[in-house]
Amino acid sequence: MYNKIGGTLIFDVKAAPAAPLMLAEAARILVGGGLVAFPTETVYGLGANALDAQAVQKIYLAKGRPSDNPLIVHIAEFAQLQELACEIPPAAEKLARHFWPGPLTLVLKKRAAVPDVVTGGLDSVAVRIPAHPVALALLRATGRPVAAPSANLAGRPSPTSAQHVIDDLAGRIDAVLDGGPCAVGVESTILDIRGGCPLLLRPGGVTPEQISFLLGKKCLSVAWQEDTAMPPPSPGLKYTHYAPQVPLYLVLAPPEKLLAEIACLQDKYRKQGKHVGLLLSKELAAELEADTVEILGSRDHAAELAANLYGALRRLDKSAAELIIAEGYSEAGLGLAVMNRLKKAAGPRVLVVE
Ligand code: AMP
Ligand code: MG
Repeated sequence: MYNKIGGTLIFDVKAAPAAPLMLAEAARILVGGGLVAFPTETVYGLGANALDAQAVQKIYLAKGRPSDNPLIVHIAEFAQLQELACEIPPAAEKLARHFWPGPLTLVLKKRAAVPDVVTGGLDSVAVRIPAHPVALALLRATGRPVAAPSANLAGRPSPTSAQHVIDDLAGRIDAVLDGGPCAVGVESTILDIRGGCPLLLRPGGVTPEQISFLLGKKCLSVAWQEDTAMPPPSPGLKYTHYAPQVPLYLVLAPPEKLLAEIACLQDKYRKQGKHVGLLLSKELAAELEADTVEILGSRDHAAELAANLYGALRRLDKSAAELIIAEGYSEAGLGLAVMNRLKKAAGPRVLVVE
């Protein structure tokens, strides 16, 4: 029924006939205090029973995650939100009814039943209903809220396939449900909606345009700077989510200048004898000759760029590239989430051409 790698059970739930048995076994592991990685529409999550503090503690250990970086709690039904949050403003209910199941996480005032280990000691809890049949089936079979951050080692790109989870966590967790690749490919949007005012803490699968349209008011963004004394509104903001093992240069330029700028930069490093990896749209890839190239999709389809981003970054990390040059995209729609992840990967190496 399953494979085992380094003690971790691998359940291939794409093979339909045995899937219900596998899901029941995975739910049994979660109820018993174990860790199960599962597919969602955004990225793979590493789940534990959210109401079992000891089980949740194991997530931080398995990932090597700082204990003050809280987790998102996943539920199967809107009704379960009442168990976790003590105040649900009308705007939060409107957003949940519209976007759930889906890639929108709502930050709300937490109930005492939610262990501190889930929320990093904050008085708020982040919750969503994922839109993936395997995630929903697992949550229903478990019958409990499941705390689940992305199922990668801390500092690595989020996993968008079961193989990515196995590469990082085999031997460190109890089981992985393999439901194939994740459709969205970037994490959920995190919105602090306490008091009814939408504050965007992390761009993700649901766009600020969609949120503003539904609520009829503008979504505010956080412009938190690392060097201020103020604590970040979302603890995750102070951690580099992912930094490639080699420097990544992100080139921001008007479309008509992008090709020449990237070609020039590539030339400069090649002349230094460096093996250059390029991270490009298919449009630019067609125009450039490269040592190593990863193609994300069309620069006019942010959904394609998002779906392929983390897999491409993982492959570049494994390649011979000594540095990466990445193309910048429009921040409209889902492009905002793609560019947020690319900027994090680049750190200070963002090159802006007017
Ligand atoms: P991950 O699932 O790995 O993307 O990590 C979850 C993200 O949610 C992290 O960036 C956390 O900082 C953020 N998060 C979780 N709970 C809260 C909360 N109560 N308030 C603000 N941000 C949160
Ligand atoms: Mg993560």
